Amino acid sequence: MAHSLKSCLILFGAPGSGKGTQAKLLKQSLGWVHISTGDMLREHVAKKTAVGVQIAEMMKCGTLVPDEMVNGMVEDRISRPDCANGFILDGYPRTVPQAELVRGMLNRKGFHPVVTHLKVDYNIIVARLASRRLCSQCGQLYSVASNAPIVTEHCDYCGGQLISREDDKPETIWKRLNAFDAQTYPVLNYFETVGLHVHDLDGSAGSPATIAQRIEAFLDE
Ligand code: AMP
Repeated sequence: MAHSLKSCLILFGAPGSGKGTQAKLLKQSLGWVHISTGDMLREHVAKKTAVGVQIAEMMKCGTLVPDEMVNGMVEDRISRPDCANGFILDGYPRTVPQAELVRGMLNRKGFHPVVTHLKVDYNIIVARLASRRLCSQCGQLYSVASNAPIVTEHCDYCGGQLISREDDKPETIWKRLNAFDAQTYPVLNYFETVGLHVHDLDGSAGSPATIAQRIEAFLDE
């Protein structure tokens, strides 16, 4: 399927709405770069960089890290040559100041953002996140409830040990959902105010592949 060279996709949605799963599927079908601020920040924590040491506790508790820490990372990443054909923003922007900044950044670089809002009931999200596992080696996502690995606790692709994210504990999940309501949801209003259409999608209706097809259809509009 042919897509405009200068489009990019913003996957908007609460934690556990399926942004990561969709980004991984769409990255393959579109050949675009997947930019997950959560993954970038977790890498800093794992490598114990100066930034990582500062943000480790915030991430563990499910609070957002300061805008200036993420903004620079995203700006650097989308300036790399591999993003020239398109990229998928997963988990960014997450505050109105981030949204203002990325809008300017995309304008300057000549990218038209297509925004998709994956809407999922919070009770479904809590159940999803509690059963989420990821491969400690390759990052492949699993659900012990609906998409279990063939060999218990091991990745189907690389055999790596499956782990739960530290911030997927039930009490932290609600903190993250509250942060979404308070700090991230207003981004939708901002998009509307600046005339950027948001494509709403039921993120719990249909298989991940079906949802990915619906998102691709938005990109073709
Ligand atoms: P995620 O993997 O997208 O669920 O993000 C995990 C955690 O990383 C969040 O709970 C925040 O602590 C932090 N984080 C990820 N993206 C952002 C962002 N755009 N702004 C601020 N904090 C973020």
